[in-house]
Amino acid sequence: MTSRTRQIAIRGAGIVGLWQALTLARRGHQVSLCERSPVPFAHGCSLYAGAMLAPNCEKESADIVVRELGLRGLALWRETYPGAVANGTLVVAFHRDRAELDRFGRMTEGHQRLSPAELAAREPALADRFAGALYYPEEGHLSPEPALHFLLEQAQAAGARLRLGDGEFPVDADLVIDCRGLAAKDQLPTLRGVRGERIVVKSREVSLSRPVRLLHPRFPLYVVPWGKGVYLIGATVIESEETGPITLRSALDLLSAAYALDPAFAEAEIVLQGAGARPAFPDNRPRIMVGQRYIYVNGLYRHGFLLAPVMAELLANFIETGATDPEVFVADSAER
Ligand SMILES: Cc1cc2nc3c(=O)[nH]c(=O)nc-3n(C[C@H](O)[C@H](O)[C@H](O)COP(=O)(O)OP(=O)(O)OC[C@H]3O[C@@H](n4cnc5c(N)ncnc54)[C@H](O)[C@@H]3O)c2cc1C
Repeated sequence: MTSRTRQIAIRGAGIVGLWQALTLARRGHQVSLCERSPVPFAHGCSLYAGAMLAPNCEKESADIVVRELGLRGLALWRETYPGAVANGTLVVAFHRDRAELDRFGRMTEGHQRLSPAELAAREPALADRFAGALYYPEEGHLSPEPALHFLLEQAQAAGARLRLGDGEFPVDADLVIDCRGLAAKDQLPTLRGVRGERIVVKSREVSLSRPVRLLHPRFPLYVVPWGKGVYLIGATVIESEETGPITLRSALDLLSAAYALDPAFAEAEIVLQGAGARPAFPDNRPRIMVGQRYIYVNGLYRHGFLLAPVMAELLANFIETGATDPEVFVADSAER
């Protein structure tokens, strides 16, 4: 595809569709953002996210492409969104799980090893209970709801038109970009949902200032400070597409691990609980699937916030110059 202004319809206003809309509208394209829900962000996965921007930590379990693209995703968030917090990530383990901390360190990069005293200096609430920590200073996080609203407002300010409530899209658009998340399963049979349960609490006593991951042999968890005393405790990873309320077992696991991380959670109020289904392909790698006039951006799995900006940048470059990145671009027919 060559450089000229195009009429582009984007289906789905989750984190992926919003970044596509913002990026393409800012580049001068005529963008219609079409969301099936009458209320933005009421459905879909994005509101359930942490939303950690953690390309280095995720290397422990994710394909290398997540780190490579994620570093750019992190940079794009920082350039674009003033609410992106750049406070790093801490990974901690109890003394008996020290070997797990060593293993995590070997599997990842971009970290410093902290002694218990250095950990206490960074997060006083975690003093005296852990075998030390890994600190990833480059990483960031944000609170998803205000970030989603910001992206929508900025996309509209750049000229994108929002169409809510019917799932239709302008069929005469030059190009349609499908960002429907798991709903695109009707066309992409290999797409699946991976259930992620999380609990949101509010506390005056907890005072963590950056995401903390606890390496626990049975209940690994993370806590993300969203500001104003609100913390996300997450998340399960279950091969199921069920959303809705979380199970008692998952609640017990998440809450007891949070309490083990910091006993100050004991007095926290539970303000939200629920599960989202992360859209994922069988290899858990993100894809841009290019057809003649119809392109899918999907499968961002555990990394939708981290990767959405860079997927948008790659696709905008493709639309304007034809450039493709073999790590994420595939021909649409390859998936069917
Ligand atoms: C518990 C949990 C924690 C997570 N934590 C993190 C994290 O810390 N960091 C991170 O980077 N990622 C995280 N994720 C992953 C991230 O949330 C997902 O990768 C991301 O939300 C997927 O976004 P999406 O836009 O593809 O899909 P969705 O958010 O599901 O958006 C799809 C949109 O399409 C709309 N739609 C559906 N059908 C139609 C139609 N016919 N027409 C128009 N619109 C339609 C839906 O209503 C929805 O708004 C987490 C996920 C979960 C569940």
